[in-house]
Parts: sequence; C-alpha cells; structure tokens
Amino acid sequence: MQMKTDLQKSSEKIKQEAAKLGFTDCKIAPVHYLANDAKQLKQWLSAGMHASMRYMENHFEKRTDPGKLVAGAKSVIVLLLNYFPPEKQSNKDKLVVSKYAYGRDYHKVIKAMLNKLQQTIRNEIVSHEGRVFVDSAPVLERAWAARAGAGWVGKNANLISPEHGSFVFIGELIIDVGLAYDKPIKDFCGSCTKCIEACPTNAILSPKIIDSRRCISYWTIEHKGPIPETFRKKFNNGIFGCDICQDVCPWNNKVKPHNIDDFLPSPDLMAMTKKVWQDLSEDTFNRLFKKSAIKRVKYSGLRRNIRFVAGY
Ligand code: SF4
Ligand code: SF4
Repeated sequence: MQMKTDLQKSSEKIKQEAAKLGFTDCKIAPVHYLANDAKQLKQWLSAGMHASMRYMENHFEKRTDPGKLVAGAKSVIVLLLNYFPPEKQSNKDKLVVSKYAYGRDYHKVIKAMLNKLQQTIRNEIVSHEGRVFVDSAPVLERAWAARAGAGWVGKNANLISPEHGSFVFIGELIIDVGLAYDKPIKDFCGSCTKCIEACPTNAILSPKIIDSRRCISYWTIEHKGPIPETFRKKFNNGIFGCDICQDVCPWNNKVKPHNIDDFLPSPDLMAMTKKVWQDLSEDTFNRLFKKSAIKRVKYSGLRRNIRFVAGY
C-alpha cells in the first residue's frame, strides 16, 4: 500500500510532467459516482434540450461512472489547455468561426499530449492501467474538471478556471491507481448574469442550463438540415459555433493568450471577407480546413451556415 507522502509525490510529479508537456493546468479528482450530475443530465435529456443529439442518450452509466470506462478506476487526472488566441476575428463586417476552431483540430493535438503524459507516468511515476479522453468518449468533462478543482461550471455552462478563464480545452486520463487529490473550488459567478443577457437566442434558460434547440453552436455544428427562420439575423455573423457567452465573461478579460503554434489561425482564415466566404469553393474548403475541426460539418454544412448568416 502506498503511503500518503508517496501519493502526494506521485501527484506532484504528474503535475510537473503535465506542465513540461505544455498543459495549462493539471488537477486530480477521486473517482466516484456523479449523482448530482447524473440527475441533471437526466432532466436535461428528458426535457429534450439535446435536440437531435441522440448520442447524448447513449452510455448514460458510462457518462456518470468512470468505473464503467476503466476497470477499477480510482483517479481522474484533468488537464486543461488554453486556446485563447493572441489575435481574434472581428464579427463586425466578417463571418467568424468559434475560437476553438481557429487552428488544428484540438482532438488530435491533445490526444497526442495525453498519450505522452500517460507514457511518462507509466515509465517514471506509477504503473497503471487507464485511458485518455478528449471529447471522444462518454465522460462528463466539465463535471470532472470542477470536481478536481480546475475551475467551476459557470452560468454559461462552461468550465471557468480562475487563472485561465473558459477558453480552455479539457482532457482526462482515468487510471486505476489512487493519488493525492485536489479539492473543488468555489463558484465565483456571484450575481453576474452577463452571459445570460448576451446570448442572442436566449439559449441559457437558467444558470448552467443550455437549451441546444436555441443555441447557435448546436444549429451551426450539430444540426443537419435547414436552420429555422426564427434564428435569421441572430447569429451575430457566426458560421461555426458561438463564443458570445464566453466573450462577455469577465473571467476571460485578463487571460493570457496561448502560445501553441497548432492553434494559430492561418493567415488565409484571418483575411477572409464576407465575399470570400460566400464564394468558398469545395476545393478551397478542403485545403483550408483539412486539419481543422471545421471539416466536421463538411462543405455542405458550412455553405448552409454561410448562406443563412450572410442572407443570400
Ligand atoms: S454559445 Fe451562443 S447561442 Fe449558445 S448559449 Fe452561448 S451565447 Fe447563447
Ligand atoms: S458571464 Fe458572469 S455569470 Fe456568466 S459565466 Fe461568466 S461570471 Fe458567470
């Protein structure tokens, strides 16, 4: 059996290695059943707020109990990676994409980093069985990140790190050994309601409850088929995702930009005018977004969004 000081040393070493690999933060939570989150998820699903995202209904038990994903799971190591860009698109006269999609597909970048971290932990810190996750399996990432004390879940339903804001990707390494754990932190939203007021489609029904059927991110990324006319002129020039409820959050005012080359937008993307978006050919789409998360909506999906937002 490992002594408490050994556990602390292992956890500290894991955090040091995570920092060396470039992760913005690393916190660790003990595995247990997420009873409250399970209840909230059930209510959200039964109210139909997941819209056509039927996959959210699958693997309910795995979502709330990591022991169903990794046999004997004991620890969830949560990793944050800042993607707040040094330079931003302007939606004043241009069509814009969500900041998370500026550069290379984050799934690939983070998975490679997580795999390296797991290898180092195995080789140098503690032998274990486990799996890495980044938005790729049924893991309640924000809930685990909050449990681990990496931040709190804000009224806009994003994880907010007090040091790094909410423009952070979340990855996890779930392993079958115990470690020293971090404690959850306080919710610092207080009386602020900026995100709720700023949402152009009133998708934040109450703190932390987002109705996908009203959310621009849902309509521009997840939805197949035409976008309802009721949302015409409400997307604030967003053609892939939406950052509005994060842009207005005071916790993002002073965050430092990332320094990850993979997440930098191409000069072509930054230079695109409304006219260039409207004339976008399939060949240009394939060239520009070959390595981007934007390719998920395919050329046809992005064309639909551009047409809907640019109104032609
Ligand atoms: S992402 Fe956009 S549409 Fe969705 S809740 Fe936030 S501000 Fe509203
Ligand atoms: S805008 Fe205000 S209420 Fe919304 S998440 Fe940020 S701090 Fe919380």
